[in-house]
Formats: sequence, C-alpha cells, structure tokens
Amino acid sequence: MATQSTSNIDMAHRAQLLDVAAVATQIKEEAARDVERLWQDHQVRPRLAAVLVGDDPASAVYVRNKIKASEEVGIRSEHHALPAQTSSMELLDLIASLNEREDVDGILVQLPLPSEIQQQKIIEAIDPQKDVDGFHPINVGRLALGRPSLVPCTPAGVIELLDRSGIPIAGASACVVGRSQIVGRPMAQLLLQRDATVTICHSRTLDLAAATREADLLVVAIGRPGLIGREHIKPGATVIDVGMNNVTDEAIARKLFGGEAEKRIEAIRKRGYTLVGDVNPAEADAVAGRRTPVPGGVGLLTVAMLMRNTLKAAKLRRG
Ligand code: NAP
Repeated sequence: MATQSTSNIDMAHRAQLLDVAAVATQIKEEAARDVERLWQDHQVRPRLAAVLVGDDPASAVYVRNKIKASEEVGIRSEHHALPAQTSSMELLDLIASLNEREDVDGILVQLPLPSEIQQQKIIEAIDPQKDVDGFHPINVGRLALGRPSLVPCTPAGVIELLDRSGIPIAGASACVVGRSQIVGRPMAQLLLQRDATVTICHSRTLDLAAATREADLLVVAIGRPGLIGREHIKPGATVIDVGMNNVTDEAIARKLFGGEAEKRIEAIRKRGYTLVGDVNPAEADAVAGRRTPVPGGVGLLTVAMLMRNTLKAAKLRRG
C-alpha cells in the first residue's frame, strides 16, 4: 500500500545523490587511454562523424558536447550541419559516403530529425558496424538475442553507473518507465541480460505507481517533468532519472524543488528555462535510497558511452 510505505518515511532522510559526473569522467579517461593504445599498437585513430539536420537548439548543444568529448579523449571528429530543408535523398547520400569512407568509424545522426524525413529509413541506412548509437535493427536484434555489439549509449551508461556505484542488478526487481527505442526498450533488455526481474511501464499502464513501487531499481525515461513522485517510489530504491525537460514555469519549479527552488527560478528568469528530469527531486529525496541528479546526471553518461562505442566500432572494424 502506498500510504503504508510512505507514512513510514523518516523526515530527516535524504536520498544519496549518485556521483554521475565522476563515473562519466572515469569512462572518458579509460576511453582516452584505449584510444592512445590503439594508436600505439595499430596507428589507428578513431573518427566520429556527427550529422545534425536543422536548427533545433537542444540538438545543437548535444552535438557540440559530443564533438567536445571526442576532442578530450583523442577521437577525431567531423560535424556535418545540414539545413532544415535537407531532403531524405541528400541525407541518404551523405550517409552512403560516410559508410564508404575507411577513416570514419562512427556515424551519429542526431535525433529527432525534421518531420519530413523518415527517421527509421535514415537509421537503417547507417552501416551497422558504424552505428555508434546502436539504433540499427541489426544492433537492436543482437541486443534482443543477448549478443550485444553496439548498444544504445544512454541505457549502457546507466548499467555502468549501477556497476561502478556498487548497486546490485542480478536478482533485483527493476522497473523501466518508458518503452522508446532509444532508452526504455534497450534499458529493459540490458537489465534482463544482467538477471534483474524487469517490468516495463508506459502511457497505457493502468496503475503506474503500483508497478513502480515494487522496484528496487527504478529507471524513468518518459519526458514528463517531475511526474514520478513519492507515491511511485519504494523506500530505499535506486532511482535513475533519464528525463531531460525544459521547464519555463516558475510555479512548476517551485513545486518540484521545494526549499531549493530559488536557484531554479533564477535560471528561468535569466535564460528562460531550467532543466528538469522526470522525477520530482524533492519527493524522491524523502523516500529513495539513491537518485541521479538533473542536470549533471545520465546525460553525461550518454556522451561518455558514445566515446566508448566509437572506440569499440574502430577496434571491431580495423583494430
Ligand atoms: P519518447 O520516445 O517520447 O518515449 C516516452 C515514453 O514514455 C513512451 O514509451 C511513453 O509511453 C512513455 N510515457 C509518456 N508519458 C507517460 C506517462 N504519463 N506514464 C507512463 N509512461 C509514459 O522519449 P525518449 O526518447 O525515451 O526520452 C524520454 C526522456 O528522456 C525525455 O525527457 C528525453 O529528453 C530524455 N532523454 C535523455 C537522454 C539522456 O542522455 N539523459 C537520452 C535520451 C532521452 P507510450 O509508448 O505508451 O507512448
């Protein structure tokens, strides 16, 4: 019963914030060492080609962060910025040329694409060996068969975070909220592969809180700011917040951040928004055992794992 589990909350309790930034830095440092080794042993330097179509500001920031991380770890990179009016044909031509190039190891097409372009067709055009996002049906199929090769970066990063934070997965009751191809589904596959007992929830789940409250590991990727509250969380659970939402309303920020709302409201006044996850942080703090912050959370892991995937693709193809 929700009322039972939440009424026992110790008001002095505060969930531990997982140090996601430290884990992301560690993964990038390891990638940098491996990049150097690949150069020493095989004179190969991995190269990532990032493709951005249109002028969505959030997508531009994501691509910039990925290019910056590549430079940090010694991966060569190139940025193909195409106008919003780019046709599917033009994009397919670019992908075909990147597929052919021997020096390109990873191809990343930043999603979402403008609505006129058929996203799935583009994903399927990428050489599966260069598919560092792990979205190509071949890589999705490999993961489903339990033979992962290039795995989507965000869920793979969550597994790294759990492992490096000493949080057991095998035998745990895990709940993934969201069933997207990018996060929810591969997340559930990876947890299953690591012997968790996995429940997947989505917008048609009848009693979301009843399902999520069973979970020792709760991973949320829905794109709904602060939707997961106290009633959704089992006391002591580990809550991984994948959501990244721009909140522009001061009243919502006040509701989500309680005593710490002032900083967020200041951000809204200064730049028009504040970045918020899918979990209500003030409520989660009162009941969860551990949680990830937003910002400074899972997004950092996504970029770090992209570096690792690019390195892996280079090694698989020509290492
Ligand atoms: P998406 O493709 O829009 O999928 C959202 C999923 O959430 C769908 O499966 C949907 O269910 C489910 N959902 C929506 N509202 C719900 C509700 N009220 N209750 C239960 N389930 C609900 O989103 P996505 O690409 O997976 O991204 C999810 C969030 O993660 C977004 O905030 C995104 O910005 C963020 N994200 C962050 C990173 C990172 O690096 N941190 C990476 C990727 C995405 P249906 O299937 O039934 O529609």
